[in-house]
Amino acid sequence: MFLFGFKVKHTPGSAIEHISCSNCQKYQIKSFGILRYFHVWGIPTLLTSKEVGTKCTNCNEMLIGKEIAQDLRQDLLKNTFNISNTITRYSGIILIALMILYNHYDSYRTEINTENYIKQPLVGDLYIINYNDLFENKRYPSFKYNVMRIKSLSATSIEFQVSNSVYKTAYDVHKIIRDHKDNYNRRHSFYIDLSKLQALKDAGTITSIERDRVNQIPIESEKIWIKFINSLT
Ligand SMILES: [Zn+2]
Repeated sequence: MFLFGFKVKHTPGSAIEHISCSNCQKYQIKSFGILRYFHVWGIPTLLTSKEVGTKCTNCNEMLIGKEIAQDLRQDLLKNTFNISNTITRYSGIILIALMILYNHYDSYRTEINTENYIKQPLVGDLYIINYNDLFENKRYPSFKYNVMRIKSLSATSIEFQVSNSVYKTAYDVHKIIRDHKDNYNRRHSFYIDLSKLQALKDAGTITSIERDRVNQIPIESEKIWIKFINSLT
């Protein structure tokens, strides 16, 4: 199969009762629609043209597009296609749009959670950080993202255990957390004053915070969705 290209799909039309076949004169003409679309890996992505055709079920005489009388063709074009038989030709684009929308929603939710978590830290919270900024490390400038876990809390400061590995992107860090491959230096702790947390977040040194599902602040996802939709408009 070709990776991408054009394809054609026929859709059923209707029986045409008031016009006879120009070849055999029988009143047995049926119409159909022809959708031409662009596909990627077989997924219809973009509808590029709509055309109609007629076929006599008696003698098989077929007329396509401009071969059909102008008035009839216009009628058929109007009546053959509707949202439900054309929208699937946009599946690929709709899928991509949904993925982009979900991605936006996901970062929006992470941002809201991070704002909440930073105000009420809990033991076990995972802070995804720009390691080079926090530790003024210049050794591996392109590997700058890391994660640290809250070991304990006092009234004024937080004790963190820092992960042993540094990564190129914050996405890589999220991935190792998701796969439970994060591991921490348990012998040395790193302390941050509670009063300095928000400033580190604002400066982008703390990029986001993740929390165990069991300890998550119960914000109903419908509320986040509504807030998210409002943020788009
Ligand atoms: Zn015919």
